Amino acid sequence: MDCIFCKIAAGEIPSTKVYEDDKVIAFNDLDPQAPFHVLIIPKEHIASAAQIDESNSAVVAHIFEVAAKIASEQGLSDGFRIVSNCGESAGQTVMHLHFHMMAGRDFGWPAG
Ligand code: AMP
Ligand code: ZN
Repeated sequence: MDCIFCKIAAGEIPSTKVYEDDKVIAFNDLDPQAPFHVLIIPKEHIASAAQIDESNSAVVAHIFEVAAKIASEQGLSDGFRIVSNCGESAGQTVMHLHFHMMAGRDFGWPAG
């Protein structure tokens, strides 16, 4: 499958890894929108949040456990934002489920 994030998960495309285990990988976003900006993705190909069901939702819980671990390891004590864009109008450009984890500045709300 021609999926850039599957290739990153397989180590076929280089990335700056912040965290990895058997189910997920977190790496620096190429075009950071905050001083700290990583993408946390499942290694399994899931196209977007719209494809989450009871067969694959456990990895989403795991991603949030990993996010808390990253926050603690990276000292993000002022807080962080997690965003998953789902579908074109929400701004999704890579069709492999990913969670943006950003920190290091103040964020407005509503976003965008
Ligand atoms: P989205 O627009 O929500 O689908 O997010 C896709 C994100 O992937 C964007 O923030 C891009 O900067 C990022 N991105 C695309 N290609 C790479 C890559 N090879 N390594 C790291 N980040 C990437
Ligand atoms: Zn993929």
